Parts: sequence; C-alpha cells; structure tokens
Amino acid sequence: MVAVIAIDGPSGSGKSTVAKLVAEKLGWFYLNTGAMYRAVGISLAGRNIPCSEQAVSDSVLESIDVDFDAEGHILLNGEDVSDRIQSPEAARYASDYSKLSAVRRRMTALQRKIGLSRPSVVEGRDIGTVVFPDADYKFFIVASPEERARRRYAQLKEKDPETPATLDDILKQQQERDSQDAKRALAPLKQATDAILIDTTEKTIDEVVERILAEM
Ligand code: C5P
Repeated sequence: MVAVIAIDGPSGSGKSTVAKLVAEKLGWFYLNTGAMYRAVGISLAGRNIPCSEQAVSDSVLESIDVDFDAEGHILLNGEDVSDRIQSPEAARYASDYSKLSAVRRRMTALQRKIGLSRPSVVEGRDIGTVVFPDADYKFFIVASPEERARRRYAQLKEKDPETPATLDDILKQQQERDSQDAKRALAPLKQATDAILIDTTEKTIDEVVERILAEM
C-alpha cells in the first residue's frame, strides 16, 4: 500500500494546518476530506436537494465530480470552489449531507482512490477508522471547545473583518456540528483504537508538527 498518514479530529483542533505542514515537509499530497464534503454540500444545497436518504441517491451523486487540481485547489465539476467552501453555511451543509449513506459511500471511494495514487496525509473525521483503517500512522487531534471556537473566530475575522458573527455564535455552531458528527450512525467522529492522541490546546502548530514527524 502507498504510505498514508491519517489525521482525524473535530473542527478547529488545528488538524488542517498541521496536516498541510506535515505534507509539505514530507513532500506528500495533502488530502482535505472535509473540503470534499463541503463541496458536495454546496452542490446539493445549491440545487435545493433535500437532505434525505431518498433524495440523495447514487445517481444524483454521479453528476457531482469532486477533485483537486495540481496546486491542491478543490474542484467541483471542474470549478475551483476553494473560497466558496470556507463559509459557515458550507460547513453546515457538509455536516448535514455527510450523514447520508450515498454521500459517504461516494466520498470514501474517491478518497481511497486519490489517497492511494501517491503518498498522502489525509485529514478528516473517519480516516483512521473507515477510509484508511490500515494507515501507516494515525493521529487524533483535539483541543478544548473554547480554544477551537476562538481559533475559528480569528480565522473568520481575518478573512472578513466585518463579519456579523460573534464568538458565541461560532461556539454554538461548533457544538451542534460536533454533536452531529459524533452521534451520526455512519462513520462518526471517533478516535481509532491505534491512533495517537494529541491535545493542541496549549501547543503551538510547530510543536504538533514536530510531534507527528517524530513518530515517522
Ligand atoms: O473538516 P471540515 O470542518 O471542513 O469538515 C466539514 C464537515 O464535513 C464536518 O463537520 C463533517 O460533518 C464532515 N466530514 C466528514 N468526514 C470527513 C471529513 C468531514 O463527515 N472525513
């Protein structure tokens, strides 16, 4: 099997930043599976397709192509949607539609195909448990809910200084999403039994990256 590092954890735990840096240091591909769920989410919601098992069939999903270009930008049916998937609505759609079996089936198959085409650092919620249970290295990255919300809020403010969202709004949305991701029947967010747990609450990004690379 091609080498895979699986990095899972809740939103705001720092896993995306860390996964991207680890991939850069190793010269491996960085596969952001959350971005894929966000792209599918904006596509389905944009077409007003209800979030139900009946409405989201395999054939509906066949018309949705999700891929990455050479620079790692996410493409939805060939269009670069890197900016569009950053919104809180896209996060909400991703969390909603990712509960559905057809969506998970399609995304899991695509993630395996992309991840196995070259050595990859794969980041998400179910990578070490479902997508790549035989990954060479597995990490589960966490941080306190307050710290995670604070990080998300800082990111949002940086992108849009005029954002009407408050830290409290972010904390509430995060709680809803965490609960939905952890409680869903299919591929819920949980630590794989053989994953190494890293709490980033009081760690710098560099410390976490070094910690991961030290395991290689
Ligand atoms: O990581 P990110 O916040 O971009 O993920 C958005 C949503 O996509 C998550 O809240 C989760 O519901 C879903 N997701 C998933 N499985 C993954 C990655 C993301 O269900 N492997």
